Amino acid sequence: MKRSAFIAATAAIAGSCTLARPVHAQDDPAVSSQVQALRVLLGSGRVQTIDAQTFLYEGRRYRGTAAVLPGTGQVVSTVPVEQYLYSVVSREMPRSWPSESLQAQAILARTYVLQRSNPNRGYDLVPSQADQVYTGMDAEAPQTSAAVDATAGQALRFGAGFASIAYSSCCGGHTESSAEAWGGKPLPYLSGVACDYCKDSSWYRWTQTVNASALRSTLGNQADAVGDLQSISLDSPDSSGRARFWIFTGSAGTARVRASDVRRLAGSRVLPSLLVSSVQLQPSGDALVQGAGLGHGVGFCQWGARGLAKTGGDGAAILAYYFPGTSVGTV
Ligand SMILES: [Zn+2]
Repeated sequence: MKRSAFIAATAAIAGSCTLARPVHAQDDPAVSSQVQALRVLLGSGRVQTIDAQTFLYEGRRYRGTAAVLPGTGQVVSTVPVEQYLYSVVSREMPRSWPSESLQAQAILARTYVLQRSNPNRGYDLVPSQADQVYTGMDAEAPQTSAAVDATAGQALRFGAGFASIAYSSCCGGHTESSAEAWGGKPLPYLSGVACDYCKDSSWYRWTQTVNASALRSTLGNQADAVGDLQSISLDSPDSSGRARFWIFTGSAGTARVRASDVRRLAGSRVLPSLLVSSVQLQPSGDALVQGAGLGHGVGFCQWGARGLAKTGGDGAAILAYYFPGTSVGTV
Protein backbone atom coordinates (compact mmCIF):
# COMPACT_ATOMS: atom_id res chain seq x y z
CA MET A 1 0.00 0.00 0.00
CA LYS A 2 2.48 2.73 -1.07
CA ARG A 3 2.61 5.52 1.47
CA SER A 4 -1.00 4.94 2.30
CA ALA A 5 0.30 1.95 4.15
CA PHE A 6 0.56 4.49 6.92
CA ILE A 7 -3.19 4.31 6.92
CA ALA A 8 -3.63 0.87 8.27
CA ALA A 9 -6.72 -1.04 9.02
CA THR A 10 -7.44 -1.84 12.57
CA ALA A 11 -10.09 -3.88 14.01
CA ALA A 12 -13.72 -3.78 14.08
CA ILE A 13 -14.41 -3.75 17.75
CA ALA A 14 -17.86 -2.97 18.94
CA GLY A 15 -18.96 -2.75 15.35
CA SER A 16 -16.82 0.17 14.29
CA CYS A 17 -13.79 -0.01 12.14
CA THR A 18 -11.10 2.42 13.08
CA LEU A 19 -8.04 3.54 11.28
CA ALA A 20 -4.98 5.22 12.54
CA ARG A 21 -2.19 6.90 10.72
CA PRO A 22 1.13 7.31 12.45
CA VAL A 23 2.33 10.83 12.38
CA HIS A 24 5.78 12.21 12.84
CA ALA A 25 7.40 13.79 15.79
CA GLN A 26 8.74 16.87 14.11
CA ASP A 27 6.19 19.20 15.62
CA ASP A 28 6.88 20.56 19.01
CA PRO A 29 3.72 20.76 21.06
CA ALA A 30 3.07 24.44 21.31
CA VAL A 31 -0.56 25.18 21.98
CA SER A 32 -2.56 23.76 24.83
CA SER A 33 -5.26 21.37 23.72
CA GLN A 34 -7.50 23.11 26.21
CA VAL A 35 -7.74 26.11 23.93
CA GLN A 36 -6.68 24.79 20.54
CA ALA A 37 -9.46 24.39 18.01
CA LEU A 38 -9.58 21.88 15.19
CA ARG A 39 -11.11 22.45 11.80
CA VAL A 40 -12.94 19.36 10.60
CA LEU A 41 -14.14 19.09 7.01
CA LEU A 42 -17.66 17.68 7.29
CA GLY A 43 -18.79 17.79 3.64
CA SER A 44 -21.44 19.48 1.55
CA GLY A 45 -24.45 18.69 3.71
CA ARG A 46 -27.03 20.94 5.35
CA VAL A 47 -26.26 22.93 8.50
CA GLN A 48 -28.67 24.31 11.08
CA THR A 49 -27.46 26.35 14.02
CA ILE A 50 -28.78 25.24 17.41
CA ASP A 51 -26.98 27.79 19.59
CA ALA A 52 -23.56 29.45 19.85
CA GLN A 53 -21.87 26.15 20.79
CA THR A 54 -23.77 23.50 18.84
CA PHE A 55 -25.23 22.91 15.41
CA LEU A 56 -26.88 20.24 13.32
CA TYR A 57 -25.16 18.83 10.27
CA GLU A 58 -27.26 16.43 8.22
CA GLY A 59 -29.43 15.96 11.27
CA ARG A 60 -26.54 15.11 13.61
CA ARG A 61 -25.62 17.30 16.56
CA TYR A 62 -22.06 18.64 16.66
CA ARG A 63 -20.17 20.74 19.14
CA GLY A 64 -18.51 23.94 17.92
CA THR A 65 -19.39 26.15 14.99
CA ALA A 66 -19.81 25.55 11.27
CA ALA A 67 -18.89 27.67 8.27
CA VAL A 68 -18.69 27.13 4.53
CA LEU A 69 -15.18 26.93 3.14
CA PRO A 70 -14.99 29.74 0.55
CA GLY A 71 -15.21 28.59 -3.04
CA THR A 72 -15.95 24.97 -2.20
CA GLY A 73 -19.42 24.71 -0.70
CA GLN A 74 -17.89 22.39 1.88
CA VAL A 75 -18.82 22.76 5.54
CA VAL A 76 -15.96 23.05 8.02
CA SER A 77 -16.60 22.74 11.73
CA THR A 78 -14.36 24.48 14.24
CA VAL A 79 -14.33 22.60 17.53
CA PRO A 80 -12.07 22.64 20.61
CA VAL A 81 -9.76 19.63 20.71
CA GLU A 82 -11.14 18.25 23.95
CA GLN A 83 -14.74 18.45 22.73
CA TYR A 84 -13.80 16.76 19.47
CA LEU A 85 -12.24 13.92 21.48
CA TYR A 86 -15.49 13.22 23.34
CA SER A 87 -16.95 11.90 20.12
CA VAL A 88 -13.81 10.32 18.65
CA VAL A 89 -12.79 8.20 21.64
CA SER A 90 -16.25 6.68 21.87
CA ARG A 91 -15.89 5.52 18.28
CA GLU A 92 -12.41 4.11 18.76
CA MET A 93 -12.95 1.87 21.78
CA PRO A 94 -16.03 0.30 23.41
CA ARG A 95 -17.32 2.45 26.26
CA SER A 96 -17.74 -0.64 28.45
CA TRP A 97 -13.99 -1.26 28.58
CA PRO A 98 -11.91 -0.39 31.69
CA SER A 99 -11.46 3.33 32.26
CA GLU A 100 -7.65 2.99 32.15
CA SER A 101 -7.79 1.59 28.62
CA LEU A 102 -10.20 4.36 27.58
CA GLN A 103 -7.78 6.91 29.05
CA ALA A 104 -4.87 5.45 27.08
CA GLN A 105 -7.01 5.64 23.92
CA ALA A 106 -7.91 9.27 24.70
CA ILE A 107 -4.23 10.22 25.08
CA LEU A 108 -3.44 8.57 21.74
CA ALA A 109 -6.33 10.25 19.95
CA ARG A 110 -5.22 13.62 21.35
CA THR A 111 -1.59 12.99 20.36
CA TYR A 112 -2.76 12.30 16.84
CA VAL A 113 -4.95 15.35 16.36
CA LEU A 114 -2.47 17.78 17.91
CA GLN A 115 -0.15 16.97 15.01
CA ARG A 116 -2.74 17.42 12.28
CA SER A 117 -2.86 21.20 12.15
CA ASN A 118 -2.53 22.23 8.51
CA PRO A 119 -2.38 26.00 7.93
CA ASN A 120 -1.97 25.45 4.18
CA ARG A 121 -5.54 24.36 3.67
CA GLY A 122 -8.93 25.23 5.05
CA TYR A 123 -9.22 22.30 7.41
CA ASP A 124 -7.07 20.07 9.60
CA LEU A 125 -8.93 16.77 9.61
CA VAL A 126 -11.56 14.75 7.85
CA PRO A 127 -14.16 12.95 9.96
CA SER A 128 -13.48 9.48 8.56
CA GLN A 129 -11.07 6.64 9.00
CA ALA A 130 -8.52 8.58 6.95
CA ASP A 131 -8.03 10.48 10.22
CA GLN A 132 -10.33 9.35 13.01
CA VAL A 133 -14.04 8.71 12.86
CA TYR A 134 -15.94 11.77 14.11
CA THR A 135 -19.72 11.78 14.08
CA GLY A 136 -20.58 14.44 16.64
CA MET A 137 -22.36 14.51 19.96
CA ASP A 138 -24.72 11.61 19.47
CA ALA A 139 -21.76 9.21 19.61
CA GLU A 140 -20.61 10.54 22.99
CA ALA A 141 -20.84 8.42 26.12
CA PRO A 142 -20.26 9.33 29.77
CA GLN A 143 -17.47 6.76 30.17
CA THR A 144 -15.43 7.92 27.19
CA SER A 145 -16.00 11.60 27.94
CA ALA A 146 -14.76 10.92 31.49
CA ALA A 147 -11.60 9.37 30.02
CA VAL A 148 -11.04 12.50 27.93
CA ASP A 149 -11.57 14.74 30.97
CA ALA A 150 -9.30 12.60 33.19
CA THR A 151 -6.46 12.99 30.68
CA ALA A 152 -7.19 16.56 29.61
CA GLY A 153 -4.23 18.05 27.77
CA GLN A 154 -2.13 14.88 27.98
CA ALA A 155 -0.26 13.58 24.95
CA LEU A 156 2.40 10.98 24.23
CA ARG A 157 5.81 12.56 24.02
CA PHE A 158 9.16 11.38 22.75
CA GLY A 159 12.06 13.67 23.43
CA ALA A 160 11.01 17.25 22.80
CA GLY A 161 8.17 16.39 20.43
CA PHE A 162 5.15 14.22 20.05
CA ALA A 163 5.52 10.50 19.54
CA SER A 164 4.26 8.96 16.33
CA ILE A 165 1.30 6.83 17.19
CA ALA A 166 -0.41 3.84 15.68
CA TYR A 167 -2.90 1.36 17.01
CA SER A 168 -4.81 -1.69 15.98
CA SER A 169 -7.29 -4.03 17.56
CA CYS A 170 -5.35 -7.15 18.53
CA CYS A 171 -1.64 -7.79 17.92
CA GLY A 172 -1.99 -11.56 18.27
CA GLY A 173 0.97 -11.97 20.64
CA HIS A 174 3.61 -9.50 19.46
CA THR A 175 3.28 -5.98 18.14
CA GLU A 176 4.89 -5.14 14.81
CA SER A 177 7.74 -2.78 14.03
CA SER A 178 6.59 0.33 12.14
CA ALA A 179 9.62 0.01 9.86
CA GLU A 180 8.67 -3.57 8.97
CA ALA A 181 5.05 -2.63 8.35
CA TRP A 182 5.53 0.59 6.44
CA GLY A 183 9.23 1.15 5.82
CA GLY A 184 10.90 4.34 6.88
CA LYS A 185 13.26 4.98 9.71
CA PRO A 186 12.96 2.55 12.62
CA LEU A 187 11.58 4.25 15.70
CA PRO A 188 12.91 2.98 19.03
CA TYR A 189 9.48 3.05 20.63
CA LEU A 190 7.74 1.36 17.66
CA SER A 191 9.98 -1.67 17.24
CA GLY A 192 7.50 -4.20 18.65
CA VAL A 193 6.86 -5.75 22.06
CA ALA A 194 5.55 -9.11 23.21
CA CYS A 195 1.89 -8.95 24.24
CA ASP A 196 -0.32 -11.73 25.48
CA TYR A 197 -2.75 -9.34 27.12
CA CYS A 198 -5.02 -9.47 24.08
CA LYS A 199 -6.01 -13.13 24.55
CA ASP A 200 -9.63 -12.23 25.21
CA SER A 201 -10.07 -11.03 21.64
CA SER A 202 -11.89 -13.49 19.43
CA TRP A 203 -9.21 -12.67 16.86
CA TYR A 204 -6.28 -13.65 19.10
CA ARG A 205 -6.15 -16.88 17.08
CA TRP A 206 -8.03 -17.50 13.85
CA THR A 207 -8.37 -19.91 10.94
CA GLN A 208 -9.41 -18.52 7.59
CA THR A 209 -9.77 -19.87 4.06
CA VAL A 210 -8.20 -18.21 1.03
CA ASN A 211 -9.97 -19.63 -1.97
CA ALA A 212 -8.20 -21.00 -5.01
CA SER A 213 -9.02 -18.08 -7.29
CA ALA A 214 -7.69 -15.58 -4.75
CA LEU A 215 -4.48 -17.60 -4.55
CA ARG A 216 -4.15 -17.49 -8.33
CA SER A 217 -4.65 -13.73 -8.41
CA THR A 218 -2.03 -13.41 -5.69
CA LEU A 219 0.46 -15.08 -8.03
CA GLY A 220 -0.42 -12.72 -10.88
CA ASN A 221 1.93 -13.12 -13.82
CA GLN A 222 3.96 -15.69 -11.91
CA ALA A 223 1.10 -18.22 -12.09
CA ASP A 224 2.44 -19.90 -15.22
CA ALA A 225 5.93 -20.18 -13.72
CA VAL A 226 4.45 -22.03 -10.74
CA GLY A 227 2.12 -24.37 -12.64
CA ASP A 228 -0.22 -26.54 -10.62
CA LEU A 229 0.06 -25.33 -7.04
CA GLN A 230 1.33 -28.05 -4.66
CA SER A 231 2.21 -26.29 -1.40
CA ILE A 232 2.59 -22.92 0.27
CA SER A 233 5.16 -22.14 2.95
CA LEU A 234 6.17 -19.08 4.94
CA ASP A 235 9.56 -17.42 4.75
CA SER A 236 11.73 -14.75 6.38
CA PRO A 237 9.92 -14.01 9.62
CA ASP A 238 10.63 -10.57 11.03
CA SER A 239 11.41 -9.96 14.70
CA SER A 240 7.72 -10.09 15.59
CA GLY A 241 7.23 -13.49 13.92
CA ARG A 242 5.39 -12.15 10.87
CA ALA A 243 6.62 -13.92 7.73
CA ARG A 244 7.69 -11.42 5.10
CA PHE A 245 7.09 -13.79 2.18
CA TRP A 246 4.86 -16.64 1.11
CA ILE A 247 6.53 -19.29 -1.05
CA PHE A 248 4.25 -20.90 -3.62
CA THR A 249 5.55 -24.23 -4.94
CA GLY A 250 3.99 -25.87 -7.97
CA SER A 251 4.57 -28.38 -10.76
CA ALA A 252 6.63 -25.91 -12.78
CA GLY A 253 8.52 -23.95 -10.14
CA THR A 254 8.24 -21.60 -7.19
CA ALA A 255 7.25 -18.00 -6.62
CA ARG A 256 8.06 -15.76 -3.69
CA VAL A 257 5.34 -13.21 -2.93
CA ARG A 258 5.41 -10.54 -0.26
CA ALA A 259 3.06 -11.41 2.58
CA SER A 260 1.71 -7.86 2.54
CA ASP A 261 0.79 -8.30 -1.14
CA VAL A 262 -0.92 -11.61 -0.39
CA ARG A 263 -2.99 -9.91 2.30
CA ARG A 264 -3.78 -6.91 0.13
CA LEU A 265 -4.92 -9.09 -2.75
CA ALA A 266 -6.82 -11.59 -0.60
CA GLY A 267 -8.39 -8.79 1.43
CA SER A 268 -8.01 -7.85 5.07
CA ARG A 269 -11.28 -9.59 5.94
CA VAL A 270 -9.89 -12.86 4.59
CA LEU A 271 -6.46 -12.38 6.20
CA PRO A 272 -7.08 -10.32 9.35
CA SER A 273 -3.35 -9.89 10.02
CA LEU A 274 0.10 -10.82 8.75
CA LEU A 275 0.89 -12.90 11.84
CA VAL A 276 0.35 -16.24 10.10
CA SER A 277 1.53 -19.51 11.61
CA SER A 278 0.66 -22.02 8.90
CA VAL A 279 -0.80 -22.30 5.40
CA GLN A 280 -2.14 -25.67 4.30
CA LEU A 281 -3.21 -26.26 0.73
CA GLN A 282 -6.44 -28.27 0.57
CA PRO A 283 -7.44 -30.85 -2.09
CA SER A 284 -9.99 -28.28 -3.29
CA GLY A 285 -7.20 -25.84 -4.11
CA ASP A 286 -8.18 -23.51 -1.29
CA ALA A 287 -5.67 -22.68 1.46
CA LEU A 288 -6.43 -23.05 5.14
CA VAL A 289 -4.56 -20.30 6.97
CA GLN A 290 -3.95 -20.15 10.71
CA GLY A 291 -2.97 -16.84 12.20
CA ALA A 292 -3.20 -14.42 15.09
CA GLY A 293 -4.44 -10.90 15.64
CA LEU A 294 -6.50 -8.33 13.81
CA GLY A 295 -4.99 -5.31 12.11
CA HIS A 296 -1.46 -4.16 11.35
CA GLY A 297 -0.26 -4.76 14.91
CA VAL A 298 1.93 -1.64 15.13
CA GLY A 299 1.99 0.33 18.37
CA PHE A 300 -0.93 0.19 20.76
CA CYS A 301 -2.82 -3.11 20.99
CA GLN A 302 -6.37 -2.17 21.97
CA TRP A 303 -7.37 -5.57 23.32
CA GLY A 304 -4.01 -5.69 25.06
CA ALA A 305 -4.75 -2.36 26.72
CA ARG A 306 -7.99 -3.84 27.97
CA GLY A 307 -6.06 -6.80 29.40
CA LEU A 308 -3.37 -4.61 30.95
CA ALA A 309 -6.00 -2.39 32.55
CA LYS A 310 -7.45 -5.46 34.22
CA THR A 311 -4.04 -6.22 35.75
CA GLY A 312 -4.00 -2.76 37.36
CA GLY A 313 -2.12 -0.65 34.84
CA ASP A 314 -3.19 2.97 34.46
CA GLY A 315 -3.38 4.78 31.12
CA ALA A 316 0.21 6.06 31.22
CA ALA A 317 1.56 2.63 32.21
CA ILE A 318 -0.33 0.99 29.36
CA LEU A 319 1.13 3.46 26.87
CA ALA A 320 4.64 3.02 28.31
CA TYR A 321 4.29 -0.70 27.64
CA TYR A 322 3.40 -0.33 23.97
CA PHE A 323 5.61 2.74 23.29
CA PRO A 324 8.71 2.09 25.42
CA GLY A 325 10.82 5.19 26.00
CA THR A 326 7.95 7.62 25.54
CA SER A 327 6.22 9.54 28.29
CA VAL A 328 2.85 11.11 28.86
CA GLY A 329 3.04 14.88 29.29
CA THR A 330 0.65 17.78 29.41
CA VAL A 331 0.74 20.14 26.45
ZN1 LIG B 1 -1.72 -7.66 21.92
